[in-house]
Amino acid sequence: LKRLARKQSKDALPVKHSAVLGAGIMGGGIAYQSASNGVSITMKDIREEALEAGLDEAGKLLKKQIQRGKLKPEGMATVLNAIQPALSYGEFGKVDLVVEAVVENPKVKMSVLTEVEAQVSDDTIITTNTSTISVDLLSTALKRPENFCGMHFFNPVHRMPLVEVIRAKTSSEQAIATTVAYALAMRKTPIVVNDCPGFLINRILFAYFGGFNKLVADGGDFMAIDKALERFGWPMGPAYLLDVVGMDTGKHAAGVMAEGFPDRMASESKTIIDALFDAERLGQKNGKGFYKYE
Ligand code: NAD
Repeated sequence: LKRLARKQSKDALPVKHSAVLGAGIMGGGIAYQSASNGVSITMKDIREEALEAGLDEAGKLLKKQIQRGKLKPEGMATVLNAIQPALSYGEFGKVDLVVEAVVENPKVKMSVLTEVEAQVSDDTIITTNTSTISVDLLSTALKRPENFCGMHFFNPVHRMPLVEVIRAKTSSEQAIATTVAYALAMRKTPIVVNDCPGFLINRILFAYFGGFNKLVADGGDFMAIDKALERFGWPMGPAYLLDVVGMDTGKHAAGVMAEGFPDRMASESKTIIDALFDAERLGQKNGKGFYKYE
């Protein structure tokens, strides 16, 4: 995969300084990953608290690296200094590539994309970390849609190696190549995929969750299913994974998949994901989902 990706990145523009819009779970992780791999990054949010939380998270991850002996203590300041928090677009004229990682709402994303395009140079590549919105739809918010594509990281960003680079109908080879090269610089494994509901990974993952939902509806014990999958060799089973993803995110993505592939992905009855969501058992984010968390 890496060899293929390198071949694809031959048309890439250099990415010396990047920016991420949104300092949430994903934006903070993207900033940490970029800065730790030598590409300085501006992290913009509309809330000061979000910027502080994003920087705190990066600090915690760096401390862990120091404890494990993977980073010298003096390296911590270098990485943190490479993340520039921002509440305005002041420095965006110098940015080579932007990753939009604001809330998963098409209207908000489209207005943010229009806004940022007016601040960056004509060559800047703009990408989106959306999990469920069509990149073709988002591209319509831009005057230079050729400079745009998807760059879909997985959570937690520092641990998950794969990045889906999503080709919109209008994406230029240069936009794809630059995004692939940036993913490689961040020590990720990029794959280039077409735009469709779920892209590649969520099409597979939600078919798997669908199978799990049916097993539970048939009376299957979720803990026994998780244990079986762990023995099978997977790092975690479906119930635990859904607790990590969050029932709100899981329900939303399942809805998108059902709409995109009604014959394959739609469920006629309420699923265990719906039931947990209704019972406000969202998973690790609120301390209870399939399992309880302290
Ligand atoms: P989040 O809610 O943790 O963070 C979103 C951040 O965007 C917030 O800090 C919010 O203040 C900020 N924001 C809102 N409007 C803004 C604006 N106009 N300009 C700048 N910042 C703004 O969300 P998240 O989980 O980090 O998700 C962000 C994106 O990443 C979404 O598109 C989501 O679908 C995608 N994604 C999430 C995951 C996941 O597991 N959480 C995985 C892959 C992709």
